[in-house]
Amino acid sequence: MDKNDAASGLGRRQFLGGAGALAIGGLSGSNLLAQRPLADLVLANGKIHTMDPANRVVSQALIQGGRFTAVSNNVSAPRGARRIDLKGKTVIPGLIDAHNHIVLVGNRPGWHTPLEHVFTIPEAIAALKARSAEVPASEFVTSVGPVSAMQFMERRLPTLTELDAVNRPVYIQAAQGGTRTNSQGKAWLEARGVMVAADGAIAGPALTAALLALRKELLTPETRKRSALDALTYYARLGITTHRDCGAFHSEALSGGLANENTYTMHNPFLALHREGAMPARLRIDFLHQDSPTANPPLPTLSARLKNSFPFFGDEWIKTGGIGEFTGGGIEGLRAIAKAGWRAEDHALSLAMVTNEVKDRETVNAEIPLSGLRWIISHVPELPMDLANRMNAMGMGVLLGWGPLRTGTNVGPPYRMLMNHPIKKGYHSDGGDITVINPWLNFSTITSGKNLAGQQILGDQTLTRQEMLWLATAANKWFIWEDDLGSIEIGNHADLAVLDRDCFAVSDEDLKHTRSLLTVVGGKIVHNDGVA
Ligand SMILES: [Zn+2]
Repeated sequence: MDKNDAASGLGRRQFLGGAGALAIGGLSGSNLLAQRPLADLVLANGKIHTMDPANRVVSQALIQGGRFTAVSNNVSAPRGARRIDLKGKTVIPGLIDAHNHIVLVGNRPGWHTPLEHVFTIPEAIAALKARSAEVPASEFVTSVGPVSAMQFMERRLPTLTELDAVNRPVYIQAAQGGTRTNSQGKAWLEARGVMVAADGAIAGPALTAALLALRKELLTPETRKRSALDALTYYARLGITTHRDCGAFHSEALSGGLANENTYTMHNPFLALHREGAMPARLRIDFLHQDSPTANPPLPTLSARLKNSFPFFGDEWIKTGGIGEFTGGGIEGLRAIAKAGWRAEDHALSLAMVTNEVKDRETVNAEIPLSGLRWIISHVPELPMDLANRMNAMGMGVLLGWGPLRTGTNVGPPYRMLMNHPIKKGYHSDGGDITVINPWLNFSTITSGKNLAGQQILGDQTLTRQEMLWLATAANKWFIWEDDLGSIEIGNHADLAVLDRDCFAVSDEDLKHTRSLLTVVGGKIVHNDGVA
């Protein structure tokens, strides 16, 4: 029994009990999908990597009532079950990105078009053209956030002339590598006083003005909902079935900052999808706080949050979590979170930062034991063994990833050392505003050590494919705080991806191109590329 089951009042046994399995209470009283009975599903002839404690690989799985009810080489299918012949394809548990900024991505203006799966400028133009076919004339085709110049063979973004092949205004704002528009976009932006260079580049203060103008004129509750659905669907096609969102910088009014949103309303498009039973993936929500340590009265937003909301509350599709990825308020903030019994997470961008964070947590831990609260530090470009030991002694965990766009040598995190260390560790992309979410780009970096430009950045700290996949599936149970996700085992939610290639065997380059052909979340097919 984990904390979430206790919070929702439904234990695993009750789920396994049968008929009532899908009548899950939660944020929505009218989740039609949750009420509709799902057909029994038999997956046969697969290479099903279960990621169970024995790392079993089996050929068959049975899904009933949204959960796995048999996982072996010899499953007897009940009458009326739908049988899917996988013809030897590789199956993995649905991927868990245990820290990203999907909620920011789900609130992007325009017809947001993720480009994380294309690697040349002609491919990017083709993807934008294909998208424009479903976009009304004169409306913006955009790609804002999780895209970078480094991913393209040309190591740059498309130019104005290249983007003019798309017969819509186009706006691309990369996490790293600049911003570009085309002639139609340039005219629209210049009419609003935004300076655009002749090659379509936008930089400096004009960049903030550009994104602000797009947000002001293009965002409505309906367009936000469309972006949220598009984002979740896009990543479901890449195999992600669970996102843990780690917040945004709060802006009460619309902002021109890539990482800014109204953190009190930005979840609304996702909640709306949930009410309609239309979520194609699970969302876990953490709350980012940035109170000043000298605020008076102290901790204005954090103390209100701790008093007035609920950690780990919701249902299997959307559930709240803890405080992060910033706790704010300095050591008093940490004390307040510990006292309230909530989970806390901060990121670390340097050795100095993680050293101070561990020290502060030790101070708090001496007063209020943190063990059992599963506190997290994420990113950790450096984490010497001594700090890992001290974090582990407090029952803390570390999230690893954050890599494919980084440059330099031995820029960490020390995957190999931590893999061999007893500390709890999991995978996160941190993508959405400063890097990409596509898990396969991250996996390629973590297993080959190379960034998207092909430069070796991890030295001898790389992992095997098996270790990598484990971090992004079974290991992330601890970070999501749910035991019944992340592995293909009897009783677990039936979340899986049937891949278009054997991700354990293909080359590093091919690994980056991996897609899901069939994605299943809670027994529901959310993406089907002709397999079923
Ligand atoms: Zn983050």
